[in-house]
Amino acid sequence: MKINTKCLHSGYSPKNGEPRVLPITQSTTFKYESSEAMGKLFDLEAEGYFYTRLQNPTNDAVAAKIADLEGGVAAVLTSSGQAASFYSVFNICQAGDHVVASAAIYGGTFNLFSVTMKKLGIDFTFVSPDSTEEELNAAFKENTKVVFAETLSNPSLNVLDIELFAKVAHAHGVPLIVDNTFPTPINCRPFEFGADIVTHSTTKYMDGHATQVGGVIVDSGNFDWTKSDKYPGLTTPDDSYHGVIYTERFGKGAYITKCVTQLMRDLGSIPSPHNAFLLNLGLETLFLRVPRHCENALKVAKFLEANENVTWVNYPGLEGNKYYDLAQKYMPDGTSGVVSFGIKGGREAATKFMDSLKLATIATHVADCRTCVLHPASTTHRQLTSQQLEEAGVAEDLIRFSVGLEDADDIIADIAQAIEASQM
Ligand code: PLP
Repeated sequence: MKINTKCLHSGYSPKNGEPRVLPITQSTTFKYESSEAMGKLFDLEAEGYFYTRLQNPTNDAVAAKIADLEGGVAAVLTSSGQAASFYSVFNICQAGDHVVASAAIYGGTFNLFSVTMKKLGIDFTFVSPDSTEEELNAAFKENTKVVFAETLSNPSLNVLDIELFAKVAHAHGVPLIVDNTFPTPINCRPFEFGADIVTHSTTKYMDGHATQVGGVIVDSGNFDWTKSDKYPGLTTPDDSYHGVIYTERFGKGAYITKCVTQLMRDLGSIPSPHNAFLLNLGLETLFLRVPRHCENALKVAKFLEANENVTWVNYPGLEGNKYYDLAQKYMPDGTSGVVSFGIKGGREAATKFMDSLKLATIATHVADCRTCVLHPASTTHRQLTSQQLEEAGVAEDLIRFSVGLEDADDIIADIAQAIEASQM
């Protein structure tokens, strides 16, 4: 099936007389006739539902749809994008391990890695997303377990050279995890270029209507965990599950099964089935919305480029943009609806501009069907030092403009009047 059809049909196929729309199984528990039958579920000897923290039919259907959209073998929904980032790494790392991560990542992820996970004893080396092969190689250590990056970074809009990052990660015997939130699988399917695991904040385009906070982790099933002794959590007996060896018992499903049975069991962070239902409604129209976001964003970027009060514009879909060629390679149908730019007068004018907008909303959000705007240096990336901001590609005057689905003429008219007001 083509991706458009998958958006509508993957993950849930009702049988005769069953509801056409994915039902919300808003139940924590599931009934069994005997304790023996339930015991088998606990021992992972039989498949079935017993407690929603581990598995739930609504959540599983939506996870299966996203796995299909990305071309992966299995997926798990999480209660937020943050939980997805954390679990994706923590599933294969423990105290004493090391991770190579792109410096150009969402501020919350940077904080999770550099502060919180550091406290857990996991060490991170941050590299430029534009690193050469040699520079990337130099970041690896004996105890490196994974490489993490964003396919299209928030908010600096760097397009990752996925093939290069995958090649270097694989040469060191470790997988590449990419956060594919901004392009979505409509515009980029990282597994086709060698990435091993994909994460998303489903809060963004996948939902698209700002109704739920969520995340997802998808496994391509391509990484061979047994090739080295780097991943004992997957390749040696798990005492907390009666000595199960995930790679032996679950093959290509090992990584996601461990994530569910171990991390979800111990740490929680599942979405409510109702949130999964809302996410599914968003996914059903993802293939229609994403191209329109990109079309509108290109028009906005071209308008900004031609405006004398705009000092710089960053949109990888603009010819002449530093990432234009990489964008054509990895996301030829479009990048995302996010455009960043600066205006004459710097930070102060940026604030005036934002306060003068009438249609676009100032919101701690991005990738919504309604146009929204944010100044990352004073909000999402506030905790970063000036040097960290520079490394993350976040200029102090950067305005992150998330172009929505309104008529492009109306969005541009709003920007035009706000730029004028910012210069008074
Ligand atoms: N990854 C990216 C690229 C994001 O933009 C965000 C949030 O903005 C996250 C992860 C975290 O997601 P959430 O806010 O759903 O926890």
